[in-house]
Amino acid sequence: MVAGIRAARLGRTVAVVERSPSPGRKLLASGGQRCNLSNTLGADQFMERVGKDGRFMGPALEGLGGPKLREFFHGIGVQTVVHDGFRVWPETRKSSTVLAGLIGELERLKVPIITACEVLETAFVDGHFTATHAGGAFHSTELIIATGGLALPKSGASGGGYRFAEGFGHKITARHPAGVPVVTAEDWTARCTAHTIGKAHLQVAIKKHAKIARTGDLIFTKTGLRGPVVLDISRELSPLLDRYGEVPLWLNLCRGKGQEDWQGIFKEWRAGPQRALGDALGEHLPGELVDVMCELSGTSPSIAVQQLKGEPRDALARTLARTPITVIGHTGYDGAFITRGGARLKDVRPETLESKLQPGLYLCGEVLDLDGPCGGFNLQWAFASGYLAGTGAGMAAGDAAATPSAAR
Ligand SMILES: Cc1cc2nc3c(=O)[nH]c(=O)nc-3n(C[C@H](O)[C@H](O)[C@H](O)COP(=O)(O)OP(=O)(O)OC[C@H]3O[C@@H](n4cnc5c(N)ncnc54)[C@H](O)[C@@H]3O)c2cc1C
Repeated sequence: MVAGIRAARLGRTVAVVERSPSPGRKLLASGGQRCNLSNTLGADQFMERVGKDGRFMGPALEGLGGPKLREFFHGIGVQTVVHDGFRVWPETRKSSTVLAGLIGELERLKVPIITACEVLETAFVDGHFTATHAGGAFHSTELIIATGGLALPKSGASGGGYRFAEGFGHKITARHPAGVPVVTAEDWTARCTAHTIGKAHLQVAIKKHAKIARTGDLIFTKTGLRGPVVLDISRELSPLLDRYGEVPLWLNLCRGKGQEDWQGIFKEWRAGPQRALGDALGEHLPGELVDVMCELSGTSPSIAVQQLKGEPRDALARTLARTPITVIGHTGYDGAFITRGGARLKDVRPETLESKLQPGLYLCGEVLDLDGPCGGFNLQWAFASGYLAGTGAGMAAGDAAATPSAAR
């Protein structure tokens, strides 16, 4: 939709084609229907947080990075707010406001949104793109693939765009659900579902991948782990799951306290008044987790703190500092926010998002092999890349007199 707005503002004849009965269904679902549409990071920090391919976003963020994106939305009647110094939301706290703004602008620009129309095939024949659907075909001088990823299939995600890109010679990298809750081998998580652990630290316990670590809010589920920190680290875990079948993790649920910190705390407890280990640990962890930690380290919460000695004491310090847990799966695309993987970046020019393989073809948003963590990164990328692709297509050499025909 943003690509369509931009190309239309540049004077081109545009049609937005959508397979669902209405556009922007994923946008509506985003941010718990409140749409965390961007964040306040500067471009450099933004790209750093995205990871190794973040720099590809540079030209798109230059054109419609955080402040400019907010101006763009204000320009179409969507006021935005930041309450925590980081996340950008619509002032109404409703994603429907963002969608209404985009649809309103497309209407103002007389861009048709052709809904319930799934593009089945795309091709470039005799100097024109053809996008075939059940009732016929569209023909145009430029084509923008903005079909998103595979997450949340009920929003319309189909993966068709990967096939279209492949048809033009683009390589598609392996795809995985990301931003997704994980399933663990251990079932003790089911006993702890009432609790959110702030500043939990998760680290991959495979030497080669030990750099993969995240800190944030963690929630236990009946089958594993969820919460912002899990959604973030799952971007890295999904590919490892494919590779190794299971991924061992270490959890630190006590704000980074290491084994030595715990040994110091135990010493203080021993010198203090007599009380049960469970009561003392209860100052650091919810009761259910106290029981779990004691079980995992082979001790009992009912012993007196003075009785905590030798190997059981060391085992408890180890377990508290690095609680072992094994990820054996995830909840799949139905429960995922994003797709990791997609159309290979090497085949696309970052400064315009035009294909290097097929002039006049543009790719933007999640269909590309780029994804970010939680916190407005993915929508910011979708909007900024859409704007850049719309700029490229809008200003393309395609003879202005021979503007694309969007006839059905
Ligand atoms: C539940 C949920 C919450 C999220 N919350 C946030 C958030 O708060 N902040 C954030 O930054 N990101 C969030 N994300 C991620 C973000 O929504 C996506 O990264 C973003 O929507 C991707 O934009 P896109 O335009 O590339 O793809 P999409 O938004 O998926 O749009 C692609 C469109 O193409 C259509 N389409 C696909 N194939 C065809 C075809 N063959 N023919 C015609 N139409 C087709 C689809 O129906 C769809 O409407 C969330 C994702 C989910 C699932």
